[in-house]
This record gives sequence, structure tokens and C-alpha cells, in this order.
Amino acid sequence: MRKLIMALCCVGASSWAQNYQPENKPNNAWSVIKSPSGSFAESIGSYANGCMTGAVALPPTGEGFVDMRRNRNRFYGQPKLIEFIKQLGYYVSERHGKKLLIGDLSQPMGGRMNFGHSSHQIGLDVDIWMQLIFANEQVDPYRDMHTIVDKAGGFVLNGGIPKETRDALYFSATHPDVARIFVNPVVKEYLCSTETDTSWLRALRAWWGHDEHFHVRLKCDANSPLCKNQAPPPPGDGCDGSLYNWVQEQSDRVTGRFVPKPKSKKKRKPKVMPEMCYQLLEQQSW
Ligand SMILES: [Zn+2]
Repeated sequence: MRKLIMALCCVGASSWAQNYQPENKPNNAWSVIKSPSGSFAESIGSYANGCMTGAVALPPTGEGFVDMRRNRNRFYGQPKLIEFIKQLGYYVSERHGKKLLIGDLSQPMGGRMNFGHSSHQIGLDVDIWMQLIFANEQVDPYRDMHTIVDKAGGFVLNGGIPKETRDALYFSATHPDVARIFVNPVVKEYLCSTETDTSWLRALRAWWGHDEHFHVRLKCDANSPLCKNQAPPPPGDGCDGSLYNWVQEQSDRVTGRFVPKPKSKKKRKPKVMPEMCYQLLEQQSW
């Protein structure tokens, strides 16, 4: 039954999908779903293996934010994520007269995407561009992102992280709903060396990429008993030797000096989605 549904979904939705995916990658059952399911907001499963109900669409614009690349249909999230983005937008607008450029949230019912992310599956993740624009500035929603990091040299470009970006990171890291924020190791290293109080940097986690955008992840909500939180970041600000190893390895990778360790031959188990997600998929009418 499940296989049949997977097959049916992708045939029935193919003409719609062709208009919706600029990157032209094969769709999956979740990436062709057009609209949210149900009114009860719930995240089901983990950030990189799950789905959701009751998603809300982020408006194309609002005070302090513009949503980019809406043709991807990834502007859905749990109500608390939409609320968080609005709060952050209001904050940067009031404080700096700027607006955020918002990247991907989740698909209408979450689930696996056909390109670009392994997480963003349960409506609690959002990518936000590192560069903000003036509140009255027009932006091409299909323009490219620009990096703020020189990866080979291990430093932040243009003399440092803009104040409004630093403040957006601070607001996010100290927000009670935020679990963690992924940033490039060079971004974190810069903040480690320039902030007087580094305790808030605990929520900033070094990860590859994330030099053009930062990725905010919210905690599971109390109304989602099947939502799986990640373990919280380890105690301390994380401004330590392991962070500097990330910076060094990134530089070695982009300059061709990196020597990869031999890969383990252990096969990864295929992911099995929560049963509830399969049930939701089966309820979809194609
Ligand atoms: Zn992301």
C-alpha cells in the first residue's frame, strides 16, 4: 500500500512539480505536497526524519523580513516558528531599520526534501541570510546569497560581522524557544574573540557551510509528544580547541591540504519515518 501511494503521488503531481522546482531534482512524496494538513499543530519525529501537521505559511513580507525563493514552496512552519521569525523581524526593524532575508523553512507537511537539506522536516528550522538589507530596500527574491567568510584564510570578510547580523544572532541565541543555531566555524570564532560575555555563544554550533546564512532550530513544542528534541549543546561557550580545529579543517579542505581519514565500512541503516507520517501520507488525495 505504502509503495503504491509513493508511486501514485509522483505521477499525479508531475506537471505541478515541474513548475515548482528550479533545481530540477527528482521529487519525493513529501516534496510534491502543495498545502498543509490539519489544523492541529504538531511536529512528528526528529529534525532530519519526520513530518508535521497544522503548518502555517510565512507571509511573503512583514515588518523586518522578506521571504526569498517562494517558488520552492518551503515557507511553512509550526506556528511558533512563524511567530519567532516575526519577532526577530520586528527586533531588527526597530533596532536597525533593516530587514531579514528569509530562506527555507519546511514543506507544507514537512518531510524529506528533494534537494538542499537533510533537516527542516518538522517545521522548526529556518535559514536566515547573514546579510540584512535596509527596510525600504527592494530585493530580487531570486538573487544569490553572499558569503561573509574567507574559508581559506579563516577570517570574516569586510572587517567583521555587521552589527545587525550580530544582534540577530544574539536575539535568536537568547530566545527561550531556540534550541541551537548553526553557523560557520569562522563566524563563531569571530564572536568568541569579539564578545565580552561569551555565554550566549553556547547556542551557536559550528557546522560546514552556513557562511551565507545561519540556521535557527527551535525546541519541540509541548503540544508535540512525538517530536524528538536533540540533546542540548554541551555546557560552556564552545570557544575552545575543537572550534579552532573546525576552522583549520575548513581551510585545509578548500585549499586542498585536507587528508581524509579512511571511511568506515559500516553501512548506515536506512531511516524509517514515524508511522504517523506514513499515515498522514496515505490520507493525502492525489
Ligand atoms: Zn538550514
